[in-house]
Amino acid sequence: MPFQRPEIVRPPSEANSYFLPLTAGCSNNACTFCGNYGAKLHIHEADEVKKEIDAVALYLSQNLAVTGVPRIVYAIASRWDGERVFLQDSDALVYPYADLVGIMEHLRNKLPSVKRVAAYATTQDILRLSAAELRRLRELNLGILYLGLESGDNAVLQHICKGVTAAQEIEAAQRAKAAGILTSVTVILGLGGKAGSKQHALETAKVLSAMDPDYVGALTLTLVPGTPLYDEGKKGEFQMLTPFESLGELLVMIKNSHFTHCFFSSMHASNYVSVRANLPEDKDEIVRQLSDFTKKGDPALLRPEFLRGL
Ligand code: SF4
Repeated sequence: MPFQRPEIVRPPSEANSYFLPLTAGCSNNACTFCGNYGAKLHIHEADEVKKEIDAVALYLSQNLAVTGVPRIVYAIASRWDGERVFLQDSDALVYPYADLVGIMEHLRNKLPSVKRVAAYATTQDILRLSAAELRRLRELNLGILYLGLESGDNAVLQHICKGVTAAQEIEAAQRAKAAGILTSVTVILGLGGKAGSKQHALETAKVLSAMDPDYVGALTLTLVPGTPLYDEGKKGEFQMLTPFESLGELLVMIKNSHFTHCFFSSMHASNYVSVRANLPEDKDEIVRQLSDFTKKGDPALLRPEFLRGL
């Protein structure tokens, strides 16, 4: 079957990147809350990826389009500043290592203006690579990895079938950092449900502190039709948090996390309020604001449901 280019799903900070698909789907397609649940992983052949890089390079240098290259390639390239590349899809780091290195070398040769390459990575992907392999990728401009921690609570990780433990999540982040690669970590408010909320928030704060990432992004759980967690919710076996309970989790996570230097945000459209904080510098102020907010409990202060999204 020919490779189908995946939809563009990327972190907000990669909005201006060139989106280069290495894969479609996710190798760890078992997480019970995720839209990728059950999606098969497809690999884009390395020669095809290199052809796309060649086409972009030709287009940028001589404004020439090659027959047979998808129009989206030129649509992205025409508004691209040439500096950042985001490797798609949900865990591009699963790509066979030798081929990944070949693609990154090709990218550097053909598009020398690129300053930073980024990708989503699973914990399993990172732990499969040696320290030397990660360093080689760093030399080839892999500057940041986006990791989905989701929760630091092993009970939650097991419930959502994440396939890793909190200790492995910490090890993966530390390995990436040791190679000089920035880490951006996502956590999901409400993933422990009502019953596991307190433990989810406290354990997540503990694990985030041990990972000590450069960036943390907090999302709010949204149940996706077709996923097992959605079915659990429908049957009443999993209970969603109220907006203010969700904010309470955010407060506990920030209050109990300890970072060297981290930009912590909850800017995603799924969240009820937007937070942007440099931690630890802004910690006292943000804790004070969130405490006031949750004490007031005024729904008018929340992002309305119809504006919330995945
Ligand atoms: S590893 Fe990430 S992208 Fe893959 S199924 Fe789990 S949450 Fe979804």
